[in-house]
Amino acid sequence: MRIPIVAANWKMHKTIPEARAYLKRLIELAGQDPGVEVVVIPSFTALPAAAALLAPTPLGLGAQDARPESAGAYTGAVSVAQVADLGVRYVLCGHSERRKLFGEDDALVGRKVRATLHHGLAPILCVGETLDERKGGRAWAVVERQLGEALASVGDPDGLVIAYEPVWAIGTGVAAQPPAAQAMAARIRGWLRKRFGSRGEAIRIQYGGSVRPDNAREFLSLPDVDGALVGGASLDPDAFWAIVRAARG
Ligand code: PEP
Repeated sequence: MRIPIVAANWKMHKTIPEARAYLKRLIELAGQDPGVEVVVIPSFTALPAAAALLAPTPLGLGAQDARPESAGAYTGAVSVAQVADLGVRYVLCGHSERRKLFGEDDALVGRKVRATLHHGLAPILCVGETLDERKGGRAWAVVERQLGEALASVGDPDGLVIAYEPVWAIGTGVAAQPPAAQAMAARIRGWLRKRFGSRGEAIRIQYGGSVRPDNAREFLSLPDVDGALVGGASLDPDAFWAIVRAARG
């Protein structure tokens, strides 16, 4: 039994007052029990305010990135240990924007995943192919490599979430076809089962890439899709909540 998990990746949006206003509205919408795990992933600057507002609620908090080193000369960076201090439960690892814009490779993503697990937090490991890779018939080979390298020396995957996000669908308004998303999620599930045995069965797989209130149900009803990672449509609390409701069925 996998509880669906729907996460809002705000990317580099919202000041602290904007974050507070959003979260107050989200808390109002959430009521007592969303019946779905809901995670908000703000910018680092809004994490303390978000942690204070979300602490008495069932809504979870995530960080968009974190360095695996515990401390050191990494100007501008924030470590897993530092975000753990703030009450963060999830850390995005290897989002395609970090891979592309900040040059993160599979080895670094793997170190982030291991550091996140080491601190008792849950990595949301993002994997997905570019359009060229899909057109070239290499989508699964790419995703398999990303999984293999990021999870190479992970013994216990407890808490791990995989976000399958085809790069060409992120922020473009062009979502994957649901059968293609299901096919990839099923292959990822098979890989996790082989790699982690019965513990692999409990790992949740999200779909991400242009999920909106009007298409969310198509993805969230797929048998191997256990939630969504949402960027653009998560910036408005009412739209994000409509997606959460789609996960409830
Ligand atoms: C994302 O940032 O992970 C994402 C899926 O963005 P969008 O929903 O805007 O495509």
